[in-house]
Amino acid sequence: MSYQKPKGTNDLLPGTSEKWQFVEETARLIFRDYQYEEIRTPIFEHYEVISRSVGDTTDIVSKEMYDFYDKGDRHVTLRPEGTAPIVRSFVENKLFGPEFSKPYKTYYMGPMFRYERPQAGRLRQFHQIGAEAFGSENPAVDVESMAMALDFFKQLGIQQIKLVINSLGDKETRAAYRQALIDYLEPRSADLSEDSKRRLHENPLRVLDSKDKKDKAIVAEAPSILEYLSESSKEHFETVKTMLTELNIPFEIDSNMVRGLDYYTNTIFEIMSEAPGMGAQSTICAGGRYDGLVEELGGPATPGFGFALGIERVLITMEAEQVVVPVINEIDAYVVGIGEQTNIETLKLVQAIRNFGFSADRDFMDRKAKAQFKTAAKSNAKLALTLGETELAEGVVNVKSMASRNEKAFPLSDIYERFDEVYDEMMTVMFEDK
Ligand code: ATP
Ligand code: MG
Repeated sequence: MSYQKPKGTNDLLPGTSEKWQFVEETARLIFRDYQYEEIRTPIFEHYEVISRSVGDTTDIVSKEMYDFYDKGDRHVTLRPEGTAPIVRSFVENKLFGPEFSKPYKTYYMGPMFRYERPQAGRLRQFHQIGAEAFGSENPAVDVESMAMALDFFKQLGIQQIKLVINSLGDKETRAAYRQALIDYLEPRSADLSEDSKRRLHENPLRVLDSKDKKDKAIVAEAPSILEYLSESSKEHFETVKTMLTELNIPFEIDSNMVRGLDYYTNTIFEIMSEAPGMGAQSTICAGGRYDGLVEELGGPATPGFGFALGIERVLITMEAEQVVVPVINEIDAYVVGIGEQTNIETLKLVQAIRNFGFSADRDFMDRKAKAQFKTAAKSNAKLALTLGETELAEGVVNVKSMASRNEKAFPLSDIYERFDEVYDEMMTVMFEDK
C-alpha cells in the first residue's frame, strides 16, 4: 500500500523550502518597512463570510470552494482567499476603533484552497501573501500598495513584470455600465458560453472575466467601463494615474480587466510576469480597492485597498528569470567523535557549543573519521573538533580551523567553560597566518 498527496497539492522539500522562506522573509521585511503588521486567521471560515464577500456568482464561490458541514452541522469552508477572512477579523476585533492606527495596515500569508483543474501555477492548495489597508479613500493608498508589491518583486530579483490597472468605478458607475454591457451582450448571447449566458443577467461584469475563447472574442469589443465612470470615480482614477507617473512607475490600462471577486470598486490592478514560458498563469499579483466590503460584513463603512500574490507563481517567475536564491549552508562547528566510547562526550560537546549560541552538528551513524570530516567540509563547518578514545582518556579535544588548517588541542573544560574564546582564537589564527 502506498499513498500519494491529494491532486493539486505539493510537498515542499528542502531545496525548495529555502526558496519559500526567502520569499516569505522578503515580504516580511518589505511590508514592515511600509508599516504593515501580520494577522493570522483560521484556515477555515463560515461559508457565508466567503460567499457574501467574494460573491455567489463568482467561480470561486460557485465552483471552487472546499466547503463542508462539520460535525455540528455548521457550513464551513477552507478559505479560498485572504481578504474576506481579514475583513471578518477586522470587524469582529473592532480594529476600526479609535485606539488603532489609520489606515490600519495588515498583511497575511498562508495556504488557500480552490477546487480547480490543476496545472502549472494552478493548484488546489496554493499559497498567498497579501496586504490590506483599511480606512482611507486617498488614491495615494492605492498607489503606495502597488508600489509596495512592485518593491517586493524588485527585492526578489524579479524584473520582467508589468503593472496593469483599470477602474471598476463606484455603485453609480456599475449601474450605468451594467446596462450598457447587457445591451451589448444580449444580441450576441447565442454565441456565449453557458456560464456567460447565465451570468449575463445575474452579474454581467463576470462575463468579462470568462476564460472561454469565444467569450473572450466577444468581450474584446465590449464597451469600456472607463467611459461610464462617475465624476468621483473618474477623478480617483485620474489621480492614481498621475501618482504612478510621479513615482515613475510604468503601467498599462486594460479597460476589460475585471477580477474574479465581486468586492472590488474603483482601482484594480494586476502584476504580470513577462518572463518567457509563463504561459496562461502569468498573473502573479492582483488586487484593488474594496470600499463596500467592511460594511458588507457588518462593520462601519470603511474603505479598503489590498492585493494578494501567489507564492507558487512567484517562484515559477523567479525560475523563469533565473534568479539565484541565496542559501546559507554553513555551520560553526562539527564534532568528529571516533569510537563508541566517545558517543556521550560528543553529545555533550555539541550541546555545550550550541549553548554558547553557535551552530554545531555531529555524526550519528558510526561513520569513520574520514567520512565525518567529509560531512564537516560539506556542511562548510568553520571548526572541526576531533575526539578519539585517546583524547577522551586525556580529557582533551583537537580543534581544527577548516580554512587555515591550523590545529590545537584544548582541555575539554575549555569547550564547556569558554567555547566562545576558543572559537575566536582559532578563527583569528586563521587571519594572522594568511
Ligand atoms: P486566475 O485568473 O489565474 O484564476 P484569480 O483571479 O482567481 O487568478 P486571485 O483570486 O486574484 O486570482 O488571487 C491572486 C493571486 O493568487 C493570483 O494572481 C495568483 O498568483 C494566485 N492564485 C490564484 N489562484 C491560484 C491557484 N489555484 N494556484 C496558484 N496560485 C493561484
Ligand atoms: Mg481563479
